[in-house]
Amino acid sequence: MLASFRELYHLLPPFQSPKIQNFTLPEATSKPISTSILRLDEVHPVISGNKIFKLWYFLKEAASSGHKTIITFGGAWSNHLAAIALCCKTANLRFIGIIRGEKPPTLSPTLNYCIENGMEPVFFSRANYTALSTNSHSFILKQRFGEHTFVPEGGYSPTGAMGASLICDYIPEGFTHIITATGTATTFAGLSLGCKSSKLIGIPVLKNLKDIHDRLEYLGVKNQESVEILPDYHFGGYAKKTPALIEFMNEFYRLNEIPLDFVYTGKMMYALNSIITRDYFPHGSSILAVHTGGLQGNQSLKEQLIF
Ligand SMILES: *Cc1c(COP(=O)(O)O)cnc(C)c1O
Repeated sequence: MLASFRELYHLLPPFQSPKIQNFTLPEATSKPISTSILRLDEVHPVISGNKIFKLWYFLKEAASSGHKTIITFGGAWSNHLAAIALCCKTANLRFIGIIRGEKPPTLSPTLNYCIENGMEPVFFSRANYTALSTNSHSFILKQRFGEHTFVPEGGYSPTGAMGASLICDYIPEGFTHIITATGTATTFAGLSLGCKSSKLIGIPVLKNLKDIHDRLEYLGVKNQESVEILPDYHFGGYAKKTPALIEFMNEFYRLNEIPLDFVYTGKMMYALNSIITRDYFPHGSSILAVHTGGLQGNQSLKEQLIF
């Protein structure tokens, strides 16, 4: 059962392998470089982007264990929960989702989706939730729910990074640079573990994410020589945006018919466009941007986007 990552993918129709395509940027047309994008946003309607990769080794561990149980934490709108629910159903695993806050009278669509797909919801008050998700919780969770595989939020752990390194199976050799949006840095770590012949550029989408090098070390990245972090493209912080960012996303769509989201990939692409203007890349560079998905977040912006 669950012998390989590709096998899980094929159990999750309508999965499709991610494509790589060329794209243009407003500032790049005259520069002697090439730009391509890995379309992880297209692999699956529910578990798009980087999330399914980060989950892989947790699923494999749970599937080969005796307990066959996964526990994780999440908010009522968490795509992390939705992705795990679907994967657990597919792999016949028990899934306990610990939700932040008291049980509301009506559940969010995300939670309903999770429950329809077999998640057992457990509501923890905010105080308990915070204590449990930040302290060493394994003993308490074990006492209450028995043996299980625990998935940290965002997959932030060496196991999650190992899973993210599987993204590199879909990236051919030859790209001089790979650029990605960075939240917990798990995906970035995975790319630097798996795509060793490219330079890695990370664009933090949070303000004051100053500990990325420590995070990478925790996630198993020993050699950080070919890693660069450009910290000035967070647009004021997580999920913050400006009219310039939205206009850039629309312009990018006009040029390429590729949608970006304002929390992650819009900021990454804006950063890429801007460093190209500054001649950051040597002549002949071949750059791969990773589209990590996240498009469902754009629902709050419908009137401002042309896609
Ligand atoms: C979750 C997410 C990220 C962040 O990935 P990390 O591994 O936490 O750095 C990036 N892009 C999108 C679209 C995401 O949903």
